Amino acid sequence: MAFSGVDYLDIESLLTEEQRLVRDTVRGWVEEKVMPIIEEAAWEGRFPKELIPEMAGMSLFGATLSDYGLPGLDNIAYGLIMQELERGDSGLRSFVSVQSALVMYPIHAFGSTQQKDRWIPALAGGTAIGCFGLTEPDFGSNPAGMRTTARKDGGSYVLNGAKAWITSGSIAEVALVWAKLDGVIRGFLVEKGTKGFSTFEHKGKMSLRAAVTSQLAFEDCRVPGENMLPGVSGLKGPLSCLTQARYGIAWGALGSAMATYQAALDYAKSRKQWRDRPIAAHQLVQERLAWMITEITKGQLLAWHLGSMKNAGTMRPHHVSMAKRNNVWVARECAKLARETLGANGVVNEYPVFRHLANIESVYTYEGTHDIHTLVIGEAVTGIPSYNPPME
Ligand SMILES: Cc1cc2nc3c(=O)[nH]c(=O)nc-3n(C[C@H](O)[C@H](O)[C@H](O)COP(=O)(O)OP(=O)(O)OC[C@H]3O[C@@H](n4cnc5c(N)ncnc54)[C@H](O)[C@@H]3O)c2cc1C
Repeated sequence: MAFSGVDYLDIESLLTEEQRLVRDTVRGWVEEKVMPIIEEAAWEGRFPKELIPEMAGMSLFGATLSDYGLPGLDNIAYGLIMQELERGDSGLRSFVSVQSALVMYPIHAFGSTQQKDRWIPALAGGTAIGCFGLTEPDFGSNPAGMRTTARKDGGSYVLNGAKAWITSGSIAEVALVWAKLDGVIRGFLVEKGTKGFSTFEHKGKMSLRAAVTSQLAFEDCRVPGENMLPGVSGLKGPLSCLTQARYGIAWGALGSAMATYQAALDYAKSRKQWRDRPIAAHQLVQERLAWMITEITKGQLLAWHLGSMKNAGTMRPHHVSMAKRNNVWVARECAKLARETLGANGVVNEYPVFRHLANIESVYTYEGTHDIHTLVIGEAVTGIPSYNPPME
């Protein structure tokens, strides 16, 4: 049965015609092109690269940009794209998030004209894939501690260090790598094939199996001087990209929650136990469904309002933290409740539930863990940062 949306409170009435059109276009494409292949791709641990040209054809990469022939969509339309993609698979949404929010956005916002002209059209057209290298083996939640360095040498920079858990790392034509130059974090564009730059895929991943996740290594890797992003320095560079991506995740997580809720609802209505009655007739099963739809609806309102604030230019990073933290948690809880509702069928890939359950574990951890966003909100309301353990 084709997916017709999850909308308990007529959220539809809040959307413009353009936003609905964008959502329905992506929804129809996910239904037709993603659903038939995604379980197998995830099972095989394969990123479905063949979908890239079609996503580019729909202008899903850099969709909020308005130059270089890009559609300049508003932020709610962008969020709805993320929602629909993640209803398909969190790995697919991750790919588009990285390409758009973590690679195209910083090149567009902080890059030179030459960098923009070189990369924005190629990334938008899907002829180049990008990745974002911030996390290191020893520095995840605290990226300020990073050890990767850049040293100026004549007209070029020499990079040394390693990055870990990088989405699309080993399939990317260009890596945006954050490294310390004289102790200050700067962004560098490193092209595939540059001497001293190598990538390795993380093996044994049980989550986001339909996405590529890699380590990046830099050994005296020399990049031309013009490959440094001129427009930003310090931690605010990567953090401003993460704000864009986390905004998309707040919407994307709703797509995951919708997928597991819908699977649980459909199953509960058709599965019969006890006097040939559907399990949906049991109060405990209804309680789960009522919880899921209530939390999804609250999450939709949160995402929609955040999108309105982003459109108005009033959204701040701590607002995004609340939405990312809440909506991913909702999706994680929905996946667990849906899995329970499907009984034994909840652990097989005939249904999408276990894949979403496994995927959401990564989403819960990346782009700022649930804990870190708790601390961001705590700091916003108290004015006191508590990221470091209390000192003696
Ligand atoms: C599939 C996948 C894809 C990813 N893609 C990318 C990517 O494209 N680019 C990129 O740069 N990174 C990427 N990441 C990395 C991701 O952003 C990090 O995993 C994340 O920031 C957490 O870092 P960590 O795993 O080192 O955990 P740690 O920072 O070691 O945290 C471990 C635990 O300690 C908790 N913790 C840490 N500090 C505190 C504190 N102050 N107070 C309370 N609790 C705390 C955390 O919440 C967590 O529960 C990806 C990760 C995954 C799993």
